[in-house]
Amino acid sequence: MKNSKLSRQHAIDKDQKDQLKRFKQEFHIKEGTLYMDGNSLGLLSKRAEKTLLTSLEDWKEHGIEGWTEGEQPWYYMSEKLGEMTAPLIGAKKEEVINTGSITTNLHQLLATFFNPDDKRNKILADTLNFPSDIYALKSQLRLHGLDPEIHLIQVTSEDGRTLNEEEIIEQMNEETALLLLPSVLYRSGQLLDMKKITEAAHAQGIIVGFDLAHSIGALPHELHDWGVDFAVWCTYKYLNSGPGGVGGLYVHEKHLGQAPGLAGWFSSRKDKQFDMDHTLTPSETAGAYQIGTPHILSSAPLLGSLEIFQEAGIDNIRKKSLDQTAFMMQLIEQELDGYDFEIANPRQAERRGGHVSLEHKEAARICKALKEKQVIPDFRAPNVIRLAPIALYVSYEDIYEMVMRLKEIMDKETYKKFENIRGIIA
Ligand SMILES: *Cc1c(COP(=O)(O)O)cnc(C)c1O
Repeated sequence: MKNSKLSRQHAIDKDQKDQLKRFKQEFHIKEGTLYMDGNSLGLLSKRAEKTLLTSLEDWKEHGIEGWTEGEQPWYYMSEKLGEMTAPLIGAKKEEVINTGSITTNLHQLLATFFNPDDKRNKILADTLNFPSDIYALKSQLRLHGLDPEIHLIQVTSEDGRTLNEEEIIEQMNEETALLLLPSVLYRSGQLLDMKKITEAAHAQGIIVGFDLAHSIGALPHELHDWGVDFAVWCTYKYLNSGPGGVGGLYVHEKHLGQAPGLAGWFSSRKDKQFDMDHTLTPSETAGAYQIGTPHILSSAPLLGSLEIFQEAGIDNIRKKSLDQTAFMMQLIEQELDGYDFEIANPRQAERRGGHVSLEHKEAARICKALKEKQVIPDFRAPNVIRLAPIALYVSYEDIYEMVMRLKEIMDKETYKKFENIRGIIA
């Protein structure tokens, strides 16, 4: 297989043998479109649509009683979603809650677990993370009266794409209070060794948090067993909950019971909440890190979506995803040789996430030409085309067809009619 030329027939054969192929028909996919951007905004499934409509029906039917009496009672929805999510990250159900967004959840967990003193008052992060995470870290430092220039240490990257775990570990010391890293880097798709990093940090008494934006729903995790202290994620990427879908957070069992840094009435134990007492009794689960009323209409689609993950199984999804990204990379090398593309993600399976990171100096306008050909990639400045073959709804033949359309764009140079600058939303 390795040395033989890949053809459309190879793709068709792989699709026929695919154990997960039945899930594709569960999604709304526009005819003729090859959607490779599910790592940015996942597509709508029929089940997510249904659970959203059920919440609307519950509102129609029950009004205020929908909180407890509806088909999908709103008062317990965040906990229910947490329980359904737990297997995807190797957590216990009480360690997980769906609430807020990545950035607000990060603020909450920093407010709870970053407690600097005279000796330990630095946060260790990296230079490649998504900007929102870095903004949150800097503003939390400032709230403690600490200068981010001094107290935020960002591990640099040698190649501008990836991080070296050993270098991260070397930067840890007795002044480090907390470490925050992405599980998978949003641009290069590098998957970090979370277990190794967590062990090394704990050996030095450092609190460890991960941002799972680009790994949840794409690959399995063992957060509880690795001892990870906290994690945050969104659900509109690989988990297909829709634009602005509810975020999620995990806090290790050993920290449960610790009062939230940012408290609100939804931080309360659920049986006490309506006592309306001015002294908060925080929930003993990760529910304590909620703040206000849950956004039911952006949580409900996740109920249906997570059912699909339960049925498909995250290990099966990861297996297919690795095979699909490998297939895509092999096709790119076979068909696009000589066009100055460079595959920027790590090659080893244990070091890559769910997308292929393709670099080209004309990336911005190649993306525009792809969209003209009904291929939806995304562009990340300055030169990255991200292509995510989502195991639940992208077929091997879609991947083959995508590479063929890209080849045509390069052969005919149709990208040259566009300007090489990004759109408002890249
Ligand atoms: C997508 C993403 C975000 C977005 O944060 P929101 O608060 O959900 O808007 C943050 N961090 C990373 C690493 C991301 O990939």
